[in-house]
Amino acid sequence: MARYTGADCKLCRREGIKLFLKGDRCYSDKCAVERRPKPPGEGGRRRPRDSEYRVQLREKQRAKRVYGVLEAQFRNYYALATRQKGITGENLLRLLESRLDNVVYRLGFAASRDEARQLVRHGHFRVDGRRVDIPSYRVRPGEVISVGEKAKDFGVVKAAIISSAKVEVPGWLEVDVENLKGTVLSLPTRDQIDLPVREQLIVELYSK
Ligand code: SF4
Repeated sequence: MARYTGADCKLCRREGIKLFLKGDRCYSDKCAVERRPKPPGEGGRRRPRDSEYRVQLREKQRAKRVYGVLEAQFRNYYALATRQKGITGENLLRLLESRLDNVVYRLGFAASRDEARQLVRHGHFRVDGRRVDIPSYRVRPGEVISVGEKAKDFGVVKAAIISSAKVEVPGWLEVDVENLKGTVLSLPTRDQIDLPVREQLIVELYSK
């Protein structure tokens, strides 16, 4: 599966906000957005004026970048969201949020979604006891996500658990740190998705 392989921090600087793509570093004073808030490559130049299209595009890029999803896949999520009942923008975020790599990250078993994606891809997670190595796998209410035997001793998993103790697990998930597993209690509602994105603008962009 193709994915963005450039510098994560440049994405944050391009968007002008922290997207939390690098785990602990994002909470430290090494964060590039705090050290160099200007967009990459623009030196001292000011950001261009925001047209309606540009604002909508930025919202879409933010969502894509947060979840590490490329354009074609993002469009597929959007198409699926339009076919579901309810508000399309919220459906879209719910679909993105229920990806297995995101859930592993939200449960605190990886320091970033990128790290979670790698661990999932290498087969280090189980869903209801079954090995699932597809980062885009969509979790369902009632499913139990657990860390595989080998990964229980991984330094990155242990470090992520220690560092994620500072961050609250969202209400639609329940984590059992001792047994390294988590349960999907329900699919998230919009207010349970902590994301600095105005999803309605994405819908407007794609509806043109
Ligand atoms: Fe973004 Fe994290 Fe890099 Fe800061 S440290 S710019 S939040 S990826």
